[in-house]
Amino acid sequence: MQLIPCPWCGPREETEFHYGGQAHVAYPADPAALSDEDWAEFVFYRDNPVGPFAERWAHTAGCRRWFNAVRDTVTYEFRSVYEMEGMVNDTGGAPFAMPDRVRVSRKTQREVAS
Ligand SMILES: [Zn+2]
Repeated sequence: MQLIPCPWCGPREETEFHYGGQAHVAYPADPAALSDEDWAEFVFYRDNPVGPFAERWAHTAGCRRWFNAVRDTVTYEFRSVYEMEGMVNDTGGAPFAMPDRVRVSRKTQREVAS
């Protein structure tokens, strides 16, 4: 059984959580301007990296709050968790520096942080 560190409750068993997909996928700024191909990419296509990956998680059997986590897709290790807004980590509020390889939005290839 793996423990997942909820930012508000602390480490809890993984059965208390639900996976919410890739983090930092922004809703299109101008939805009316998107082509069918752009919509398909927004709705269906997500990154699938080997290594650190920013994900959304919900502590559904606990505080019921959503948060983001960086999880290594090879080792399943949770490297950090942070609130969905403000990029705050779980150890005191200092801004969290994401690994260089974590990227968001295939469309924009925007770096979360370097
Ligand atoms: Zn919680």
